[in-house]
Amino acid sequence: MHELGVVFHIMDRLEEVAKQSDVSSISKVVLDLGEVNGVVPDLLENCWNWAVKKSPLLEHAALDIQIVPALSYCEDCKKEFVTVKYGKTCPYCHGGSTWLLQGDEFMIRQIECPQSQPEAQTSADPEHKPESEIPQEEKEKDEHGSCQNH
Ligand SMILES: [Zn+2]
Repeated sequence: MHELGVVFHIMDRLEEVAKQSDVSSISKVVLDLGEVNGVVPDLLENCWNWAVKKSPLLEHAALDIQIVPALSYCEDCKKEFVTVKYGKTCPYCHGGSTWLLQGDEFMIRQIECPQSQPEAQTSADPEHKPESEIPQEEKEKDEHGSCQNH
């Protein structure tokens, strides 16, 4: 399944970013997904929900997919048109010298971490252990010995 490979790719990127920014948990990931990128958003979300359960960093991370509409540009008449409706042929001059302006994006736009949110939000949840109660050693083990404290 193509989408699963994509999810693993995103997860790799996020693990990398988290390591660099000293982040141990991610609560939300905003993804820019071009309309004609070829990835099916529903499938992507299903794969995400399944795959993140195995990651301590991402198990509580919600995926927010922002669809970027596909737009093409015509070289001949210098107009823009919606790619999905007209394909490679300009609807104004019927020329074929067109190229995609946007719509094949695939990019992590934003990452949210629980640490950056107000304390009040976490204490409202009785199941949630405050960060300070988790021994630092245990956290490092979870991350396979990666450097948490610089
Ligand atoms: Zn044209």
